[in-house]
Amino acid sequence: MSLLVVGTVAFDSIHTPFGKVEKTVGGAATYIALSASFFTKDSGIVSVVGEDFPHKTLHELKKKNINIDGLQIIKGGKSFYWSGKYHEDLNNRDTLVTELNVLADFNPVVPEQYKDADFLMLGNLTPAVQQSVINQMSRRPKLIVLDTMNFWMESMPDELAKTISMVDVLTINDSEARQLSGQYSLLKAARHILKMGPKYLIIKKGEHGALLFDSKQVFFAPAIPLEEVFDPTGAGDSFAGGFIGYLDKTKDISFDNMKRAVIFGSAAASFCVEKFGIDRLLEVSEEDMRDRIKEFINLVQFDIQLA
Ligand code: AMP
Repeated sequence: MSLLVVGTVAFDSIHTPFGKVEKTVGGAATYIALSASFFTKDSGIVSVVGEDFPHKTLHELKKKNINIDGLQIIKGGKSFYWSGKYHEDLNNRDTLVTELNVLADFNPVVPEQYKDADFLMLGNLTPAVQQSVINQMSRRPKLIVLDTMNFWMESMPDELAKTISMVDVLTINDSEARQLSGQYSLLKAARHILKMGPKYLIIKKGEHGALLFDSKQVFFAPAIPLEEVFDPTGAGDSFAGGFIGYLDKTKDISFDNMKRAVIFGSAAASFCVEKFGIDRLLEVSEEDMRDRIKEFINLVQFDIQLA
């Protein structure tokens, strides 16, 4: 196993200015694994769902070469459920409902064949569960990437700080970076957060792109300007999936290669938002991905002769 993905596999109800869907398939691990599958053919999920989760989605994951031996299906249980409503500008949303359901008592078991994964992607989930997965690995992965959100910052700050101290890369959005650090300036926020443990920090800024920091450098990647954004749900997870999927494919964790990985992550996120839920990710081809990367290259290429 090359890439292990941990995170929610869930039902979401989503309300955007363009429409509404009830109980569509979502979840951090779902988006991450689907986006990573553009790049890596050797990944597996550790998560939990209830008996209510559709078999069709499980087949779709398997068709994308995503191993689901570590996905527990709890008899009679209900899957994690999240509901959110986006503001007019789509950059902000309110969480209306978070029902942990089977996640409340989730005890992750990392299957034997996943324990030596080189890359570990800790998607959004209870911080203690994320720690338990790190502790079950037979050796430390080459790279551990963590994604989290304000929900855990507010409900379990100490557990979350411990998880953050155990990882190499943290990805969060701009408002979460400000909340976690207590700093408004993103540069100051990054400096503060890098002292909490991770060597690298990615701050996602929705349609305004993403910033990659280490202790000495900053890299900025734009987001592709899209004519139609239907549903931003899962954009952050798709970003993380594209990012770690590309690193897994190239096996290079230098800062320079992380810059490329940020572009691939941004490309995966740009597809995700074009339809509700996971629908767009299921239909994108490798050629679509190549074309979108070319758009990124054209978007940021310019020539300046300094006198
Ligand atoms: P994103 O839009 O990338 O932040 O991720 C949205 C996904 O995160 C949705 O599919 C939800 O099911 C999932 N989600 C929402 N709240 C949580 C939470 N507190 N913990 C884990 N996953 C969550």
